Amino acid sequence: MYCNSCGKQIPDDAQLCAYCGRRVVYANGVAAYRRLVRPREGRKIAGVCRGFADYFDLDVALVRIVWLVCSIFGLLGLVAYCAAWIIMPEEPLALPAPVSQVNRTATL
Ligand SMILES: [Zn+2]
Repeated sequence: MYCNSCGKQIPDDAQLCAYCGRRVVYANGVAAYRRLVRPREGRKIAGVCRGFADYFDLDVALVRIVWLVCSIFGLLGLVAYCAAWIIMPEEPLALPAPVSQVNRTATL
């Protein structure tokens, strides 16, 4: 299978591209299973708003504004943010793609 974004070959059961980090979209148009996680990049505090925006395909600024308004007018937004900070797992580290054995022996 090939990545829809960068075109590099990736394993058939991959959900994210190991090269560009984009979510894989299968041939039938269905995107790979997505998880509600706190991304490591693009976060302002803990990445909760960015995680929700990515999960629901919303604009992150809109999510932040709604969350801020909920936090100002009632403490529910602040409590929910702290709860989501604790509950939501952090996005796994994006490690570089493994160098194949052929390339490794050729450089030695
Ligand atoms: Zn890719």
